[in-house]
Amino acid sequence: MRKPFIVANWKMNMLVEDSVQYGEDLVEKLKRENVDLKKVDVAICVPYIHMAALKVIFVLRNICVGAQNMHYEQSGAYTGEISPAMLSDMGIECCIIGHSERRQHFNETSEACAKKIKAAVMGNIRPILCVGETLNERESGRYKDAVADMLKTSLENITEAEILKTVIAYEPLWAIGTGKTATSKQANEMAAFVRSVIAEKYGKDIADQVIIQYGGSVKPDNIKEIMSMSDIDGVLVGGASLKVDDFVKIVNFDPEIVGKTE
Ligand code: PEP
Repeated sequence: MRKPFIVANWKMNMLVEDSVQYGEDLVEKLKRENVDLKKVDVAICVPYIHMAALKVIFVLRNICVGAQNMHYEQSGAYTGEISPAMLSDMGIECCIIGHSERRQHFNETSEACAKKIKAAVMGNIRPILCVGETLNERESGRYKDAVADMLKTSLENITEAEILKTVIAYEPLWAIGTGKTATSKQANEMAAFVRSVIAEKYGKDIADQVIIQYGGSVKPDNIKEIMSMSDIDGVLVGGASLKVDDFVKIVNFDPEIVGKTE
């Protein structure tokens, strides 16, 4: 049984005061909506400066604080970087790896992603590896090859134990921040494809346990349909995660599934 995993990606947004207000509102609204945080995993991936305050607000609340990037070395002469050891030390539970914005603007490669996944798992940080095709690759019909290549290189030397701790987020680039969502059928087709690539390398038993998310303009009005898809176990949410009310609606995608039963 794969537990739903809903992740917010704030990107480079929010000042400290806003993040504290968001954290407090999130705790209160999830409680008011009767969301059972034992039935759904929730993480908020934030800029580093917000982590300490949010860790205090979420203490004993079952809401994880995550990072949006990290280096793969534990320490050293890497000015401006944050290491897995530093994140673990703060109690950071997950980290987005290889987000398309990092691949595009900071030349992040799939080879670096493979090193980051290993380092994250070693530090007890759940890696969320992002893969997805460009609009060009989608329109030319090469989208499966593009995603398979990214996946294979990013998972080079990743062991069975490590893949079981890794989450894969399928995020078509043409749907990120564009308001254009992949149809639930397209998203599920690709989530199933990602699972089949994992199965080829690690076997079906392992692939069936890996959490696969969809990301790309997820909103309160499309979440229920996306989450009803057979191979989609969660979502990675950018824009719509910045408003607490919208994010709570996304976390509470189906009160029958994530609601408290009492
Ligand atoms: C993202 O940042 O990973 C993302 C999917 O953004 P958005 O939800 O805004 O498309």
